[in-house]
Amino acid sequence: MTTQKTKVRFAPSPTGRIHVGNVRTAILTWLYARATGGTFLLRLDDTDVERSKEEHAQALMADLRWLGVEWDEFARQRDRMDRYAQAIERLKADGRLYACYETPEELSLKRKTLLQRGLPPIYDRAALALTDAQKSAYEKQGRRPHWRFKLEHKTIAWNDLIRGPVAFEGKDMSDPVLIREDGSPLYHICSVIDDLDYGITHIIRGEDHVSNTAAHIQMFEALGGDIPVCAHLPLISDAEGGKLSKRLGSLSVGELRDDEGLQPMAIINLMARLGTSLPIEAYTHPAPLIESFDFGTFSRSTPKFDPEELVRLNAKILHQTDYSEILPALKDLGLEDVSEEFWLAVRPNLSRLREIRDWWSVAKGPVTPEIAGEDTAFIAAAHDCLPPAPWTEETWGTWIAEVKNRTDRKGKTLFMPLRKALTGMEHGPELNVLLPLIGPDKVSERLQAK
Ligand code: GLU
Repeated sequence: MTTQKTKVRFAPSPTGRIHVGNVRTAILTWLYARATGGTFLLRLDDTDVERSKEEHAQALMADLRWLGVEWDEFARQRDRMDRYAQAIERLKADGRLYACYETPEELSLKRKTLLQRGLPPIYDRAALALTDAQKSAYEKQGRRPHWRFKLEHKTIAWNDLIRGPVAFEGKDMSDPVLIREDGSPLYHICSVIDDLDYGITHIIRGEDHVSNTAAHIQMFEALGGDIPVCAHLPLISDAEGGKLSKRLGSLSVGELRDDEGLQPMAIINLMARLGTSLPIEAYTHPAPLIESFDFGTFSRSTPKFDPEELVRLNAKILHQTDYSEILPALKDLGLEDVSEEFWLAVRPNLSRLREIRDWWSVAKGPVTPEIAGEDTAFIAAAHDCLPPAPWTEETWGTWIAEVKNRTDRKGKTLFMPLRKALTGMEHGPELNVLLPLIGPDKVSERLQAK
């Protein structure tokens, strides 16, 4: 028996930046591909020419690459129009697509009337009864048809990897429109044709697509193909359990990177485990997430997304990240000269990588030491009792104990003048870590500044 190789796809519409909700689908789809040794296809659903923009497509791919979500194959729908036309001809020939002439106003009136009568707003299939003469009369008026897919009135059932058994009744659904008046195909049919042609074995997407899936299953059948296994992810909510607010929901990966200064693995770790029974960990590599990936651990209930969790994870990840691995990101920050020693000393204190800039500028200078007139003698005394090199993170404690003894100062009057002399600021990185980073020469220089 040959087991079919897994093939999955992430199919964003390039109409904007990739945000928290859809990046989760991307990450989970990619993890599933890696966990099963399968293939990950990135497909751009760009048939909506008005809203799809090349700059969005480019940004989306850059965001995925930054996350490390690499795809094995790439497709875009606008390259496949001929193929869609061919499949559409077949559906027309088989009587599965029928021409409709209602205007949007007429359709909305029909919907309203049904709702007023307490009935579900299902399309009444009036167009199916049109005679050829009626159709040409409409055409003469200048109307162009849109085309609906004729659903079979039977039960549509599947076993969802997350939702378990799901069933819809064909008769409770409106025949979906697959072709617009201008002749362009809509997402539903393009998606099904692509899933068939690219041999997609599993469709992983948000639960907002559940009813689409019911219609798609009949399209797969009508086109004579295998129906992929489906996994519908519950949509994420905010920390209070409400619908993701505009701000959170529209937080893009680009903003998480550029404005929030997060590491890609913070996002990967959270998205991989959110809404599962597995703990959210701060792994520095995706390997453990790939190894443990299992749809059986996913809950059907709405997971809560808390951006603070991303910051907490980010800190934990930084605290464990090796020097060689952080080097490219340091370069991007313009910090080419950071040594391994410096990185190891500072990393436990960072929650966002960019904070290292403060450490770097305070340690390496230039710094304008601030020494108030009344502290001059105190600072000179402190200078006299600087411990001998080499310095470690213990040096600060040794030194301060000695300064305290010698000067009888304590608390803020002891620390603050030293901090201001060494860093030129009242707040900033911890002095015990900082002291060896500044080093004996610069410390001495700063304490003697006039
Ligand atoms: N372009 C659709 C979306 O972004 C794709 C859904 C899907 O089939 O995965 O919602």
